[in-house]
Amino acid sequence: MERFRFAPSPTGPLHIGGLRTALFNYLFAKKNKGKVILRIEDTDKNRYVEGSEKHIIESLKWLNINFDEGPKIGGKYGPYRQSERTDLYKKYVEKLIKEGRAYYAFDTNEDLINERRKEEEKGSVFFYGQHNRLSLKNSLSLTESKVSNLIKNKVPHVIRLLISTDKNILCNDLLRGNINFDSTVLEDKILIKSDGIPTYHFANVVDDHLMRISTVVRGEEWLSSLPIHFLIYDAFNWTPPNFLHLPLILNPKGKGKLSKRDGDRYGFPVFGINWNKNLSQNNGFKEAGFAPISLINYLSQLGGSFKNHEEIHSFNDFIEAFDVKKISKGGSKFDYEKAKWINSKYIQNINVKDLLSFSNSQTKQKLESLYPHKINDIYKLVKDRMVLFSDDEKILSFLISSPTNYPIEIYEKIRLENAVEEITSAINIINKVPISSFKDSLMHYVKERNIKLGNFMKSLRFALVGDLTGPDLFDIINILDKKECIKRFNNYIEFLKGLS
Ligand code: GLU
Repeated sequence: MERFRFAPSPTGPLHIGGLRTALFNYLFAKKNKGKVILRIEDTDKNRYVEGSEKHIIESLKWLNINFDEGPKIGGKYGPYRQSERTDLYKKYVEKLIKEGRAYYAFDTNEDLINERRKEEEKGSVFFYGQHNRLSLKNSLSLTESKVSNLIKNKVPHVIRLLISTDKNILCNDLLRGNINFDSTVLEDKILIKSDGIPTYHFANVVDDHLMRISTVVRGEEWLSSLPIHFLIYDAFNWTPPNFLHLPLILNPKGKGKLSKRDGDRYGFPVFGINWNKNLSQNNGFKEAGFAPISLINYLSQLGGSFKNHEEIHSFNDFIEAFDVKKISKGGSKFDYEKAKWINSKYIQNINVKDLLSFSNSQTKQKLESLYPHKINDIYKLVKDRMVLFSDDEKILSFLISSPTNYPIEIYEKIRLENAVEEITSAINIINKVPISSFKDSLMHYVKERNIKLGNFMKSLRFALVGDLTGPDLFDIINILDKKECIKRFNNYIEFLKGLS
């Protein structure tokens, strides 16, 4: 049974990079009929951000990435929150100490600051490793009795990995093949901090082993930790899992990793769901008006090309098509226009009922109360113009309130001779005939009077909408109905009179 995991830290909201990692884990697992688990890596108390675990879980739920095991789901390899596994890490680190693969280090912060300064004066950089560990304060340099005294007296200490003197560490990545790292430049990484809490590296490796993870899929930013992880596996004599480091997601300019700041600067969302309630602009794809499957389609293009990018595919399509060979090594630029294009394509493909079930906008709610029997017709009219679910606000607000002003520059473009008289005639006609025959009667009138059709129609639209854009004029008239049309035409006549 192949086992995968997504292992976020609750150090902030789950951004698009994390969502892509979760998705690729999910696709890889399901393709192999394997399991995917959620593990919360919350060992770093200093970086803990209130509410982020909830944000992580809800974002994944919205995207329909469902886990087989996890903190709230349970499973036989739990607990799945690292803060609940502290005793376990203690047991495992003691094993390493006993076998001479890890050691106690008693250097105080001041000691280390001093060492750092000394190295800086020499123009080099300090790191704790095989070249200097014997001259520092640890269980390798001190006598056994001194060490047991220090421990007995509860002198603060950390536990470090003893990096062997082998020159080469051969690691493997499914995308990059073999990668060699030079062990002489590696630090004896801290495994357990002075408060008894494990570091990311230690807890991560112990858990991947104990949870029987067969393939680790994570972001490229963790590639530099790979040799340390391999060395921890080696110290335990455990076989490491497969590793797959996904390419970076770059900002739209292609310079540097995509950040929350890029989202603020360019005005696009970088999270699955909104983070922080008091926002001037949405920073979640959900609230910005995307369907979860649109985001799945977009995320799968970020560093992967499993399917053609011209159509919208289902979750199952992506599971079937997932292929490590189709993942690129180079970073991929975030392209919000592409994401929006996918969503617009999706909206065009669904029916009005589905569209209505997705949107819970205030616009929709207001339209439902104003036009209870016409809501389907209304959304049918605008579906093909919507890019985001939230676009209904700007396209349909004219159905909620009549135009408050008529921009003069638009009026200049559509000047109609005898405008007051012609609009009055339109009112008379609409008053006389059933709304369904208004179009025919109006056309008849236009012909008879030999009026310029274009400007007449534009004037009627301008009178009703306050703009020259929008759905078909007669569809609008049908929805607004007689009374409202007459009211708006009269408003327009007042405006025209005010001009002269
Ligand atoms: N906890 C790490 C993170 O927040 C996970 C790294 C890994 O997957 O090994 O990204």
